[in-house]
Amino acid sequence: MSPSTQQPFQAEVRQLLDIVIHSLYTDREIFIRELVSNASDAMEKLRHTQLAGGTIHDPDLPLEISITTDETAKILTIADHGTGLTREELARNLGTIAHSGTKAFLQSLKESGGSTPGTLIGKFGVGFYSVFMAAKQVRVYTRSAQPDGEPLVWSSDGTSGFTIEDAPGQSRGARLVIELKDDAHEFAQAATVKRILEKYSNFVPFPILLNGERVNTVEALWLKPKNEITDEQYTAFYKFAGKAWDEPRFRLHFAADAPLQINALLFIPTDNPEKFGFGQTEPGVALYCRRVLIDAQPPEFLPEWMRFVRGVVDSEDLPLNISRETMQDSALVRKLGDVIAGRVLKLLEQQSAEEPDKYSAFYKDFARFLKEGVANDFRHRDTLAKLLRFESSLQDAGHLTGLADYVTRMKDGQEAIYYQIAPNRAAIEAGPYLEAFKARSLEVLFAYEPLDDYVFSSLREFDGKPLVAVTREDVKLDDSPVDSAEAPLPEDEVAALCSWLKESLGESVTEVAGSSRLVDAPVLALTPEHAPTAQMRAMMRAMQQEIEPVRVKLEINPRHPMVKNLAAARTRQPDLATLAARQLLDNALLAAGLLEDPRDMVKRLNDLLGRALSR
Ligand code: ADP
Repeated sequence: MSPSTQQPFQAEVRQLLDIVIHSLYTDREIFIRELVSNASDAMEKLRHTQLAGGTIHDPDLPLEISITTDETAKILTIADHGTGLTREELARNLGTIAHSGTKAFLQSLKESGGSTPGTLIGKFGVGFYSVFMAAKQVRVYTRSAQPDGEPLVWSSDGTSGFTIEDAPGQSRGARLVIELKDDAHEFAQAATVKRILEKYSNFVPFPILLNGERVNTVEALWLKPKNEITDEQYTAFYKFAGKAWDEPRFRLHFAADAPLQINALLFIPTDNPEKFGFGQTEPGVALYCRRVLIDAQPPEFLPEWMRFVRGVVDSEDLPLNISRETMQDSALVRKLGDVIAGRVLKLLEQQSAEEPDKYSAFYKDFARFLKEGVANDFRHRDTLAKLLRFESSLQDAGHLTGLADYVTRMKDGQEAIYYQIAPNRAAIEAGPYLEAFKARSLEVLFAYEPLDDYVFSSLREFDGKPLVAVTREDVKLDDSPVDSAEAPLPEDEVAALCSWLKESLGESVTEVAGSSRLVDAPVLALTPEHAPTAQMRAMMRAMQQEIEPVRVKLEINPRHPMVKNLAAARTRQPDLATLAARQLLDNALLAAGLLEDPRDMVKRLNDLLGRALSR
């Protein structure tokens, strides 16, 4: 049977091909890397099936990639003896997009209004389809390694669809015959292809032959002694193993014999792979046993938050025939993962101690991952806490400090570690909370992300000291007298004003009290002990959960002229005083990030302005 009718590409593939073919594209040579990497993956898969005792067709074919260039016919051919594809796999794998990264890429492109992605295609790799940057026609001759595989040929010009026909005589694996576009003839020149292979594919773990000559070195770099490896080799390996375009930021190369035999070569990238907002990156540490790939992305091997780490872990203790499914349950794999996770954490701790500036730079790009770890990875929480960094009231803007350093600066008798979460430093410095801590020379850590609220509440304490938000009602500060020329309102008047305020403000306040902590601000809103914080409320709103109306404890500053005037107005101009009281509460809520609906406030402000101007 040889049905040569054309089958359509899935709509997303068409969209992708359209971008690939029509974008002005600078790095189009990467298509060779993508195809070589597919060939290598197919042979890794085959080798694994073989080791696990599966039967494969034509078991004696060599596992190598042979590439030939035909300058006269303008044809490039890339052939492997990997798993090959069945008829159904051809239609599915080369006719649809299953790859979640590519889907996300398309989605974000749609959202950006379809503007030209430029080098982004290169950065994210669109796999097989990238061939159409250079090809006017591609034929994939293949025979699946499965015993019932058929010799077939898939062909397409990359526009609307593809055909699948019989191809008698094709041996196991895949052979891509690429007819080059008129402006892509360079890819039929041996010298060009050689340069590209040396650039991207040197570490492919199978021999690559270009017109019969070996071009790559096939080296398991992780098994070599450190002093025999140059920085350039490390970097080239990182780019290959991590499918990366940036430079490695930190590297960890070690061997261990007990409790497990391990050779590991790991890297932390320069760029945060999630910074473009294309969703979660896939874990990037591959598991090998004596140079044989067991799994390029072993599930649940390292804690999820470590998904930015790239590299290779090789252990002779792993059984070769372990399957992905049993791997997850394997105590050995878990133990191996623990050792590696511990070493990565130790590397970060070391870096933070030895090269604090370099570590801070890492932290600025990767804090998200560490914070996610604090929230989800209970086992490593304490170590992760030491790796967190924040700005602080005692440090210049831009300078980061850790919790351990904070503790060394704590004052005698200071029991808690204080922090405030707000959108930025300016908001904290202009707000009413910091002044009480400043007046008492207490350091406050500044955090700027809603997620930080979750981080602090997951940690609860550090080094035995509770972590306390400065906006909390239960913050206990000593009553050190405030330096002020202004005489305070007498105590009985403060008490009377407070109970009047409580009555006027009703359910919005749990309590109103005179404050000893305020210096320059007239009022302050504090979050009651078990009430949700501003950040939690924002999160609950985003998740469309029911939230109770805001209730705060209001503290008033008895030395503030406005508070004194309010005390006087309360009896003389009760209407105006009530409006002013509500406005003061809203001002305090605004500073606390708790003013959720400003409509009433705007109306009231207009009313107050009207009165002020008509006087
Ligand atoms: P990715 O490699 O990222 O999954 P590709 O678009 O490059 O995406 O390839 C799609 C799929 O086609 C692969 O996952 C694989 O199953 C199959 N494939 C591609 N090239 C080969 C090959 N040389 N041998 C066998 N299967 C292949």
